[in-house]
Amino acid sequence: MTNKGTYWVLAFYYYTPIFDAEDFVVQHLSYCKQIGLRGRIYIAREGINGTISGTPQQCNIYMDDLKSDPRFEGISFKIDEFDHQAFNRLHVRLKNEIVHSGLKNVNPIRRTGKHLHGEEFQKLKDREDVVVIDVRSNYETRLGKFKNAITLDLETFREFPGKLPELEQYRDKKVITYCTGGIKCEKASAYLLEQGFKDVYQLYDGIIGYAKETGGKDFDGVLYVFDGRVTVPINEVNPTVISLCKKCETPVARNLNCANVDCNEQFVMCESCSVEMEGCCSDDCMKAPGKREYNGTGFYTRPPVN
Ligand SMILES: [Zn+2]
Ligand SMILES: [Zn+2]
Repeated sequence: MTNKGTYWVLAFYYYTPIFDAEDFVVQHLSYCKQIGLRGRIYIAREGINGTISGTPQQCNIYMDDLKSDPRFEGISFKIDEFDHQAFNRLHVRLKNEIVHSGLKNVNPIRRTGKHLHGEEFQKLKDREDVVVIDVRSNYETRLGKFKNAITLDLETFREFPGKLPELEQYRDKKVITYCTGGIKCEKASAYLLEQGFKDVYQLYDGIIGYAKETGGKDFDGVLYVFDGRVTVPINEVNPTVISLCKKCETPVARNLNCANVDCNEQFVMCESCSVEMEGCCSDDCMKAPGKREYNGTGFYTRPPVN
């Protein structure tokens, strides 16, 4: 029996100078361990980025403590309920950037696109002088995106600057970027401003924040998330399915990692085809030595280490 809401998943990021980032990582790891949180937190001199899970009580302690640190005063947390721990382990890591962009001269603390909340975004997004750009990766946009949004077929966010030629045509429009929780847009929109785009906006708190504020109208498909849930529904108003099973092409919002660990590619496949393919993306992968036992979900994690 499931009991939704036993655990919370917290998603957060904040661009703020952390001068002693190395020391902060060490302190923060032992602090999170002490509370009993699991998940992934990245810390850099430019800020913090994390998705963690724990009981509501554990999460509340974490949120209160972080907010009471002047460096993180303005941080906001996106809370989702989940019926079990979304993570097996805890990682707190030092990074050069809190989201890997490779954009060296872009500093969202100094300048970034104007933040739009859900309702403001909704009012603007379909106007003729507006273009909406999805800055997430192709395996994410394949599963879901805003109606009429432009996608860039990115393997990773690092490829975003390389897509500038495709975006040149929108230079004179109001450009709104969006991503999962807002973190990539801080840099993507800052980069566009740096490149001379004049009127640049970003969806504050991303698709997750939008869904909470508005019910998710006009988001087609589902949202890919980077934890054990794999995808989450967003749109309660006019939902659709936009992804197709790789094998039988039935519309289905179901994402898997290939059971062949050496392939591990992400793909969309319906349940019955997945059983038939033993969780693999291709016939070759079914024969590969690195094939894992299909676990019924296509989401594989290593066993927890305590
Ligand atoms: Zn199928
Ligand atoms: Zn494969």
